[in-house]
Amino acid sequence: MSSRNQQLFERAQAHIPGGVNSPVRAFRSVGGTPRFVVAGAGARVTDADGASYIDYVGSWGPLILGHAHPEVVAAVREAALAGLSFGAPTESEIDMAELLCTLLPALEMVRLVSSGTEATMSAIRLARGHTGRDLLLKFEGCYHGHSDSLLVKAGSGLLTLGNPSSAGVPADLAQHTLVLDYNDSEQVVAAFKAHGDHIAAVIVEPVAGNMNLIAPRPPFLQTLRDECSRYGAVLIFDEVMTGFRVGPQGAQGLYGITPDLTTLGKVIGGGMPVGAFGGRRDIMSRIAPLGPVYQAGTLSGNPVAVAAGLATLRLLQTEGFHEQLAARTRSLCDGLVAAAGRHGVPFSAQSIGGMFGIYFRPACPQSYAEVMQSQQQDFRRFFHAMLAAGHYFAPSAFEAGFVSAAHSADDIAATVAAAAEVFRAW
Ligand SMILES: *Cc1c(COP(=O)(O)O)cnc(C)c1O
Repeated sequence: MSSRNQQLFERAQAHIPGGVNSPVRAFRSVGGTPRFVVAGAGARVTDADGASYIDYVGSWGPLILGHAHPEVVAAVREAALAGLSFGAPTESEIDMAELLCTLLPALEMVRLVSSGTEATMSAIRLARGHTGRDLLLKFEGCYHGHSDSLLVKAGSGLLTLGNPSSAGVPADLAQHTLVLDYNDSEQVVAAFKAHGDHIAAVIVEPVAGNMNLIAPRPPFLQTLRDECSRYGAVLIFDEVMTGFRVGPQGAQGLYGITPDLTTLGKVIGGGMPVGAFGGRRDIMSRIAPLGPVYQAGTLSGNPVAVAAGLATLRLLQTEGFHEQLAARTRSLCDGLVAAAGRHGVPFSAQSIGGMFGIYFRPACPQSYAEVMQSQQQDFRRFFHAMLAAGHYFAPSAFEAGFVSAAHSADDIAATVAAAAEVFRAW
């Protein structure tokens, strides 16, 4: 007898490629049947078979307050009753822009879009339009959404131009992207020495969260800032994941580095489709209708989505919010490491604010190459054992995890206890 999750997955595959609308949801890298979620409340989600899980995915980052926070849902309901979309300006967009610019001092102006992908794609076009240059510098393992310029992997040698990492991306376009190793400051200096006058922008996840979690190692971010300033390139911090997640001012506040442009998404929509890009006034003034760089969106600044984002961001402004979130997330990592250690399982974990990484290797990785050396078999085994026990981790060894303000000390303790059982039987 097949479960309801299985039935739905089979039905989904008939008319949706792979049965999912975003590939990682298909469980390909861990195997098994994806859980079809029917509802979420606080730290928990319930699947189509009625099983309940403590959720460490949080919709891949947006749900910093947990699922269906009453005040966020109330804001959405109120906005929806007044109309779903107008394609004309609304006051809540101003409230959102003012709040974002107040919270992040590097933002002088900001434009709203509907996804992180749109934010990064637009920021890159803007940087190219601003500098009159084409070349983009990115880092292997950093994900910035799925626009063409960004689906590029390193070329055959250091400082050679990139190759497409997806079918359908023209090689000609990939040639305008240079891909370097994350945390390798020397490569950055060498790349600017070789190509500096052609580099429009450097785009980076200031804490990498799309190759599992990799912390920036000094002086990496400072080197990016220095080299961009020296050569007149635009420094773009892609804080779609880290914005308001690693601290009240994102990674830029945590590490004290001011980017020229910042991209946002995830948390600023509180679970609804909102992205944003913003930064220096002189650069942002080049966007249409003020300037020659075109950018638009039928649903940009959508009032219902913005209501969810504003309600979420306002709820983060309570005293000590990020300290508490960071402490709770750290307690999860410390608990998992201690449990693995007691049973001799090669395992490490770390957290930054409300995001964390777990690795089946003895020490936390500092590079893409190191993260690739973690034991995927072990991760799969851990993932499925935890899922069976009611703890939902990201279904891939190369994704960060997320704790929300709705995760109680008891939730964390329950997850650590379940992991200890899994490690005991290792
Ligand atoms: C999630 C993510 C994106 C893409 O955002 P979407 O809303 O999925 O398009 C871009 N950059 C980073 C760092 C992300 O984590």
